[in-house]
Amino acid sequence: MAATIRLTQGIEASIRNGHPWVFADALKLAPGLKDGEVVELQDRGGAFVARGTVEPRSPLAFRAWTTDPREAVDDALLRKRLAAAIALRRELLRPDVTGWRACHGENDQVPGLQCDLYGDVASLRTDGAMGVAWEERFVAAVAEQLAPRAIVVRNPHQADGEARVVRGRVDGEVEIAEHGRRFLVDVRHGQKTGFFLDQRENRDRVATIARGRRVLNLFSYTGGFSVAAAQGGATRVTTIDLAAPAVDAARRHFTLNGLDPAAHEFLAADAFDVLADLAAAPPRHDLIVLDPPSFAHAKKMVPRAVKAYEKLNELALRALPPGGWLATASCSSHVRESDFLAIVATAAARVGRAVTIAAIAGAAPDHPARPGFPEGRYLKFVLLRVA
Ligand code: SAH
Repeated sequence: MAATIRLTQGIEASIRNGHPWVFADALKLAPGLKDGEVVELQDRGGAFVARGTVEPRSPLAFRAWTTDPREAVDDALLRKRLAAAIALRRELLRPDVTGWRACHGENDQVPGLQCDLYGDVASLRTDGAMGVAWEERFVAAVAEQLAPRAIVVRNPHQADGEARVVRGRVDGEVEIAEHGRRFLVDVRHGQKTGFFLDQRENRDRVATIARGRRVLNLFSYTGGFSVAAAQGGATRVTTIDLAAPAVDAARRHFTLNGLDPAAHEFLAADAFDVLADLAAAPPRHDLIVLDPPSFAHAKKMVPRAVKAYEKLNELALRALPPGGWLATASCSSHVRESDFLAIVATAAARVGRAVTIAAIAGAAPDHPARPGFPEGRYLKFVLLRVA
């Protein structure tokens, strides 16, 4: 018999509508529960709400797996959910994509597991103490359904958070293809699981408008947007990231894609400093891509994050000529789409420029979302034409 835990707040409706998280301050936990243990969540009156996994010492204390009282949370359910997630990708992704997210955690109803495929290497990121406890089960399910030649796992909850190769061998980088672009992914030392797959379709959007333009890609990581812009016919692409190894990788990515890096510019620098200088001088770029890291990892950081996003977008708008384009993104789940549009509007008002929204997009389709779980729609991408 699974242990039961009880809500202390009336939030059962949101869980029944698909929100998978319950924080510790809304729960009364039973004593002696272990990380990752399967428990039954009841409302204040004792009625069944959900079955899921518990993390007794974490602020995120409960993750719902199912709201169906007849459904058990076990390896069979994990297998079924992972199979459904993979089947969805087979329907959605173009055949020329060999880097893709097979499982997007709570958004695929597999709490705690992100699984990216880079060619035939699976790069897993498990979340929280629950993800640590479930690691072997996750690895076994991925091995069974995707048969990768190697599996790498990282969990930011663990002391070092380093990637570990748990199955097979990984020597060096893995090459992936994405809509005619080629990239090398370092699954062991790269950021996230190795690459930002979530921007794939947004890179296409940048490629579409890049022809004949001078492009500045800030927070470039390994140059995904830069390669897209250069392939799209940009006259010159400037690639900037604080991390020197990422900038080196971007340069190599130009060569890998048959683009001459000598015709473009690569710089390891702070994007805020670069933009401040550019904003004070005559425009040198016609299209700026702004894809900063998340400035808000927790709700209490949001006010400061909003200020940083406003400043960044303000400087970018100042650096653009009339008729310029800004492709601006935020990957913080605490900043909602409406908040981000307000940030853009504030920045435009400060600069005294009219901006037209040409596109509002989110993450690539292999990063699905659920209607009752807005936190899952973390990535916002807005394409602006500047008057
Ligand atoms: N656009 C990228 C992903 C960007 S992730 C892609 O499509 O692959 C955010 C990047 O911002 C990281 O590579 C990180 O190294 C970089 N970064 C963080 N702070 C920075 C700063 N102040 N200036 C420049 N780059 C920064």
